[in-house]
Amino acid sequence: MKIAFIAHDKKKDDMIEFVKRYKEVFEGHELFGTGTTGGLITEITGLQVHRFLSGPLGGDQQIGAKVAQGEMDFIIFLRDPLTSQPHEPDVNALLRICDVHCVPLATNIGSAEVFVKALKSYQNLK
Ligand code: PGA
Repeated sequence: MKIAFIAHDKKKDDMIEFVKRYKEVFEGHELFGTGTTGGLITEITGLQVHRFLSGPLGGDQQIGAKVAQGEMDFIIFLRDPLTSQPHEPDVNALLRICDVHCVPLATNIGSAEVFVKALKSYQNLK
């Protein structure tokens, strides 16, 4: 599966902890991320992550384009709901395009956990 990671600044630590915890599930998938998030994941977990631009510089839109082209299967986007973002329109556009194409999108750790557990059971069945 093609999985993308995006985390706003105050959610980056949560994202790293999450990816570390489920590293064995993510191995074997094609991983993508916005610039800073993707860089941190690679640096700290050793997982290979294709990095797009940083979110505020267009990374969210690049991931949105992949969704529109049918080239992204799942997105974990840990948003910071308490801080306004300079690229809020890009954030909304990404949420919208995921809904248009029915691409699963987890916007908090709770929903990300549910997805990863489902992915893990699917892998165990194979
Ligand atoms: P970043 O982008 O991973 O480059 O920080 C995330 C975002 O704010 O969209």
